[in-house]
Amino acid sequence: MRKDDCIFCKIAAGEIPSETVYEDEEFRVILDLNPASKGHALILPKDHADDIFDLSDKDKERVLFVASKVASAMKEALCCTGINLVQNNGESAGQTVKHFHLHLIPRYDGDSAMVLWKPGISEPEEQKRIAMDIKAKIK
Ligand code: 5GP
Ligand code: ZN
Repeated sequence: MRKDDCIFCKIAAGEIPSETVYEDEEFRVILDLNPASKGHALILPKDHADDIFDLSDKDKERVLFVASKVASAMKEALCCTGINLVQNNGESAGQTVKHFHLHLIPRYDGDSAMVLWKPGISEPEEQKRIAMDIKAKIK
């Protein structure tokens, strides 16, 4: 289902033009308007989902398949030396468009795309507690 006021629904449906690198029944993959690196692309499901919590099981299963297909093409076409997969959910995580999308960010040796985080410090006891809390909520 699409959402009327959603720009990515309109792009995914082809109503707003985009540089499309791949399309099938369920997904459209487009180049990002403000790329973090050359070839930065977004995988958009055609069915609207706000975020990962809202995504259909069918799209969950297929999205990594599409990512892998496009990533292989990027490697050959762009000669990138790495690719980051980034997927933001919620404002605190940096999500600015509320239609699920998976970023494919090609990386080049020595580039300045900011994707990596600063490693923190983990306390073993706290880690154990956190793992237990998450494990208990897995459905
Ligand atoms: P987020 O921050 O939500 O994870 O990523 C949203 C991404 O969508 C940003 O990288 C932004 O540049 C891109 N974007 C926003 N509006 C448009 C648009 O109209 N067309 C395209 N191609 N990309 C867009
Ligand atoms: Zn949408």
